[in-house]
Amino acid sequence: MKFIDIANPGVRQLSPYQAGKPIEELERELGISNIVKLASNENPFGFPESAKQAIREQLNDLTRYPDANGFELKLTIAQKFGLKPEQITLGNGSNDLLEITAHTFLNATDEVIFSQYTFIVYPLVSQAINAKAVIVPAKDYGHDLNGFLAAITEKTKVIYLANPNNPTGTFLTAEQIEAFLAQVPEHILVILDEAYTEFTSVNERVPSFNLLQKFPNLVVCRTLSKAYGLAGLRIGYMVSAPEVADLCNRVRQPFNCNSLALAAAVAVINDDDFIEKVADNNRQGLRQLETFFQQKGLDYVPSKGNFITLDLKQPAAPIYQKLLENGVIVRPIAGYGLPNHLRISIGLPEENQRFIDTLSLVLEL
Ligand SMILES: *Cc1c(COP(=O)(O)O)cnc(C)c1O
Repeated sequence: MKFIDIANPGVRQLSPYQAGKPIEELERELGISNIVKLASNENPFGFPESAKQAIREQLNDLTRYPDANGFELKLTIAQKFGLKPEQITLGNGSNDLLEITAHTFLNATDEVIFSQYTFIVYPLVSQAINAKAVIVPAKDYGHDLNGFLAAITEKTKVIYLANPNNPTGTFLTAEQIEAFLAQVPEHILVILDEAYTEFTSVNERVPSFNLLQKFPNLVVCRTLSKAYGLAGLRIGYMVSAPEVADLCNRVRQPFNCNSLALAAAVAVINDDDFIEKVADNNRQGLRQLETFFQQKGLDYVPSKGNFITLDLKQPAAPIYQKLLENGVIVRPIAGYGLPNHLRISIGLPEENQRFIDTLSLVLEL
């Protein structure tokens, strides 16, 4: 029996997700310690004390199921951003929310549009239900919004847009997003994935929640995995028209967010000092790497995220391997169609320096 033959056709064509290499795995393989991981856009500061405290308190009650409605977290998010709790759907990380939107809205005959060189979870969640992916060629590594508009057909139901984009770090301005939304037919959902929005400066940030009133087909996804440092807990939230949230909340597993994650999220959502510290460090780290790349004449894609993509102009795999052997884990992105590139997450200054020194060694710069 070949189980591949009975699998859903969309699933048969999927390649497994390639996660960043865990530190423990490299330690086991090489028998070395002092490893720096700059591979999964994780927060180099860890997570804030406010969350630790909330988790400690919640540890006393893991017997009961979590609150299936996430009442307190939705209220906290709603108050923070001037929203209504009915507009919010909570997810086990925002990947869960991307999957929930696909399950809620897509059928096998529908089309979903996203860019070349964008987050791999979009094809993953839509292909698994046999929806047809329409991939718009990237422009300067980023989203070509006119290309998106041209790709719309009567079968289009969902558009995924990552802003800033992963893995390239490109960014669409508020004006570009608004002009785009104004041209997308109202019955097509635009899922704006803002996993990295906290790293952008306040004056350039897209006021996406304000756009919801004007564009009821807009859906905004956020995560606590990146700037808030809670990737291991798995928690994200999605803001939309209440009608969209109602449908998504029907599809979502009732207990998709665990009680530790809910409690920690309530504690960190208002921790603006932590986010500011994280975003500041990130801006400095980006500058540190950009300066190095410029000095050495290396090509990179300017980034608004907590990572930066380097074009090595040669196959990146052997260089990735040599970096590993020297205890530095970065992310090869051949799976995204960028075999000459590496994505480096921004770390603490000394971690960035370790990458700089190791890459200089490996490339003999
Ligand atoms: C990291 C990331 C996410 C968030 O994933 P979680 O499931 O919330 O950890 C979502 N979208 C993009 C583009 C990302 O890079």
